[in-house]
Amino acid sequence: MSFICLNMSTAAFPFPVNAGTLAKLAKLNISNIWDLALHLPLRYEDETHITPIADAQTGVPVQIEATVIHQQIQFRPRKQLVVQVKDVSGHVLYLRFLHFYPSQQKQLAEGNVIRALGEIRHGFFGDEMVHPKIRTDIDKGLAESLTPVYPTVNGLNQPTLRRLIQAALKHLPADDTLPAELLQQLQLPPFLESLTFLHSPPPEYTARDLHEGTLPAWQRLKFDELLAQQLSMRLARQQRLSGHATALRGNGHISQPLLANLGFALTTAQQRAIAEITNDLAQTHPMHRLLQGDVGSGKTIVCALAAAAAMEAGFQVAVMAPTEILAEQHYLKFQQWFAPLGIRIVWLSGSVRKKAREEAKNELANGTVQLAVGTHALFQDDVAFHNLGLVIVDEQHRFGVAQRLALKNKGDDVHQLMMSATPIPRTLAMSFFADLDVSVIDELPPGRTPVVTRLVNSTRRHEVEKLVKHTCIQGRQVYWVCPLIEESETLQLQTAVDTVAQLQTALPELTIGLIHGRLKPAEKAAVMAAFVEGSTQVLVATTVIEVGVDVPNASLMVIEHAERMGLAQLHQLRGRVGRGAAASRCVLLFSEPLGDLAKARLKVIYENTDGFEIARQDLNIRGPGEFLGARQSGVPMLRFANLEEDLPLLEKARDLAPILISQQPEVVNKHLQRWLSQRAAYLGV
Ligand code: ADP
Ligand code: MG
Repeated sequence: MSFICLNMSTAAFPFPVNAGTLAKLAKLNISNIWDLALHLPLRYEDETHITPIADAQTGVPVQIEATVIHQQIQFRPRKQLVVQVKDVSGHVLYLRFLHFYPSQQKQLAEGNVIRALGEIRHGFFGDEMVHPKIRTDIDKGLAESLTPVYPTVNGLNQPTLRRLIQAALKHLPADDTLPAELLQQLQLPPFLESLTFLHSPPPEYTARDLHEGTLPAWQRLKFDELLAQQLSMRLARQQRLSGHATALRGNGHISQPLLANLGFALTTAQQRAIAEITNDLAQTHPMHRLLQGDVGSGKTIVCALAAAAAMEAGFQVAVMAPTEILAEQHYLKFQQWFAPLGIRIVWLSGSVRKKAREEAKNELANGTVQLAVGTHALFQDDVAFHNLGLVIVDEQHRFGVAQRLALKNKGDDVHQLMMSATPIPRTLAMSFFADLDVSVIDELPPGRTPVVTRLVNSTRRHEVEKLVKHTCIQGRQVYWVCPLIEESETLQLQTAVDTVAQLQTALPELTIGLIHGRLKPAEKAAVMAAFVEGSTQVLVATTVIEVGVDVPNASLMVIEHAERMGLAQLHQLRGRVGRGAAASRCVLLFSEPLGDLAKARLKVIYENTDGFEIARQDLNIRGPGEFLGARQSGVPMLRFANLEEDLPLLEKARDLAPILISQQPEVVNKHLQRWLSQRAAYLGV
């Protein structure tokens, strides 16, 4: 589609810019006048008036005008330039510079009258400003309006950047991308006017006013950005819908016996999700659907039924997960469900030996096997499928860009089902994920009990050991999860081994098992089997149990060093208990001191049980990075808009996008040209 592949010709700048400056601008990702114009101030400095030192408040930026009465280089506690100034109010202030140049010493020679802009604080020497901005051109008079301060790089100073931006503004075409009547409806100011406002705010506005996101000028910029994102996502979606894929219609010969043997009935939410998926599979354009549901909501059976439909139609299915352990869980489950129905499954991961690998590849290539489960090894160049119809990707956001590209190359015309247990908050679903169709399993299978969460200081570990004992005496079982040690798997294993020893000493009457990532699959299976049948009462684990373990009799989850774990992971781990009828608990052991982030996370997990709410708060705490993962590279990022704050704008943009696409394609084209310069070029990964 013509307006997706943007190639804005960049005859650089319509005014002279020297090579050195060009290079520095490039570092700021600025390569044309639009980039310059959209390089918005980080903050504003108020140089419109002088504050007498006597009246200056501490902690807010002020500009003072004063005479240098003393200058000195001190060497203690470290080398620094200390300058004493005195203004007409008769008050003295220290200016302190930890880095300084001879030129600054000259500027601040005794007797010189200067202006200094900065925050006053009570310091080592008395009232002081550290690294104030100094002006000596005091005869020039005061600034009439606020001075914008831009993000910059070393060697590109503010006056130069300001001059370039002002020049760029003069060269921008005066026409708006959005028609005047539309702007009126939306109550938004013209674009150029908004930009000019933000770069050179009128004198009556204070710095505080300008930092308000609700200023009409800011609203306009944010709206435009959100609209560009909506448009590009919608177009990507249209492009997919215009692509071709084989329609896959199942006849039930696999899914019906599978359902009959399950031993449980599907929840309404699962049924709805399957209906949505099978409907997509029956279309002649590729499905691109995200199945999301909280941990334990039963996504696996839904994707198994999707696989069944594709296989019934005579096509192959590949199920891919980001880690070997996660992939293996699927493999085992699929074996359990499909093997009795006579379906063969191949396993393909990095650890599969050459011979077995060759065999699996042959079978996939000649079509003697219909179902493959594995890691991204499934999509290496030398793996060919006979007739791949459906790709199922679990926890897709955890894959890297290269892996996603490989997948895309293998299956542009193949139906794709993605699964995520990290619920995507509504605002993200509406924006960054707007090109996907989403099925939500918003209901847990019956018979789950709410989990009571406790935060316990690790100094009270012995009390937790008592609780473990108590739980086991009642015939229940316990998970004990060891801290995540990112730097070293060996270290992690060691702490797990130590924990087993410690627990065994404290609770000699209990049977304690240990599971970790280093065990061979058969060993892991044996440890798990002992826990499932109840002969092991306490299972000490590294975070491998995060995925897919299901033991309804387990009613206590202890997580050590919970402060080191992310919210999604804590939520997933906690979801391992509360699967049976017994009242369940999750004990989060933490060690002091706690950082702000850790505190915030523990508070959220303590106060919430709903995965969506946890994900929403996670988004607030950390921003969208975690959710987006590899997506970042392919989707226009937001520089100005904030999804939570600007939800009303996001909703307006979402509603407007389809109307513009169908009624005013030239507006769409123009708007995207303006907003998606080559830096954000749409990859569609
Ligand atoms: P997740 O969505 O976290 O992948 P799973 O698919 O692993 O969840 O399902 C969690 C557990 O719930 C599994 O033991 C699964 O067999 C069981 N389960 C799934 N659907 C139902 C249902 N409708 N009724 C009862 N149990 C179910
Ligand atoms: Mg799962």
